[in-house]
Amino acid sequence: MPDYQAILDEIRDEVQPLLVQGHVADYIPRLACVPREKFGMAVVTLDGQLYQTGDAAEAFSIQSISKVYTLTLALQSIGDKLWQRVGREPSGNAFNSLVQLELENGLPRNPFINAGALVVADVVLATRKDPRAQLLAAIRGCSGNPDIRDDPEVALSEKANGFRNAALANFIRSFGNLEHAIDDILDFYFFQCSLAMSCVDLARGFLFLANQGRCPWSGTNILSTDQAKRINALMLTCGTYDAAGDFAYQVGIPGKSGVGGGIVGVIPNQLAVAVWSPALNAKGNSLAGSAALERFTAKTGLSIF
Ligand code: GLU
Repeated sequence: MPDYQAILDEIRDEVQPLLVQGHVADYIPRLACVPREKFGMAVVTLDGQLYQTGDAAEAFSIQSISKVYTLTLALQSIGDKLWQRVGREPSGNAFNSLVQLELENGLPRNPFINAGALVVADVVLATRKDPRAQLLAAIRGCSGNPDIRDDPEVALSEKANGFRNAALANFIRSFGNLEHAIDDILDFYFFQCSLAMSCVDLARGFLFLANQGRCPWSGTNILSTDQAKRINALMLTCGTYDAAGDFAYQVGIPGKSGVGGGIVGVIPNQLAVAVWSPALNAKGNSLAGSAALERFTAKTGLSIF
C-alpha cells in the first residue's frame, strides 16, 4: 500500500510555489475574502483510514461540488426519469453558459453545469418535503459530520450577484423545463452552493461513490451499484467544467470541482481524495488542487486507467 501520509505531505510541499498563481473567484464577493495561501488535502480509504495534510480540516465553500449530492437525491427520488430533463454529455462550454440552452431547447447538457443543476434542484424541490433539511441530512450522514452547515453570508453574496443564474433559470423556465418559482429554485441552489465542508468531510462524504453506492461505515445503501457507477462516469466526463478531458488525461479519476477551490476525486474500490486551494485556473478549477491530484495519482500509481 502506498504511504499516503508521506505522499500527501510531499505534495503539500511541492505545490507551495503554485499557491501564488491563478485567481480566487470574486464574482461571488464573499469568496474573494478567502486567503489564497490555504492548502489542504485528505484521503479516506475504504477501510476507513484517514490521511490529511495542511488545512484539510478547515471548512470552505463547496459550491458546485454540492451538485453531486443534489444529483444523488434526484436519482434516489425519480431514477432514470431525470434524463428526460437533463442530458449526460460534456458541454464544451463554460459552466454558466446560456448559448447552448438556446440551441438545445432548454435541455441542459448535464447535471453539473449550472443549467443542469437548476433542473436537478427543481426535481429535489418537487420530491422532498423539506429539501434543505434532507440535503443537509444526506451530506452529514455520508460524511459522518453532524456539524456541517450552510453559510448564509455566502448564499446572500451569491444571490445579490446571481444575475446569470437567474437568467439561466428564467430561460429554462421559458422552455417548460422548470416547475417551481424561479426564486425558490435559486434560493435552494444558492443554499446548496453555500454549504461549508472540509477536505476531510468531502473525502469521507464521497466514499460511498468509491464503494458501489454504499456508505462503508454505516452500511447504508445511498445509491445502487449501477447509479454510483453512472455518477462516477458523469464526474469523469463533466465534473471539472470545460476541462474534464484534460483532468481525465492529467489525473485519470472521476472528480468534481467547485469555484471555492475544492476538488473531490474517487478511485472506485479504493478511496476518495479531496483537495482545497482557493485560487483557480482559467477553466475555473483549483490550480494547485489540480496539480496536487495529478501528483497524487502519479505518486500512488492509482487511477481508473
Ligand atoms: N454557485 C456557483 C455559481 O453558480 C457555483 C459555481 C461552481 O462552483 O462551479 O456560479
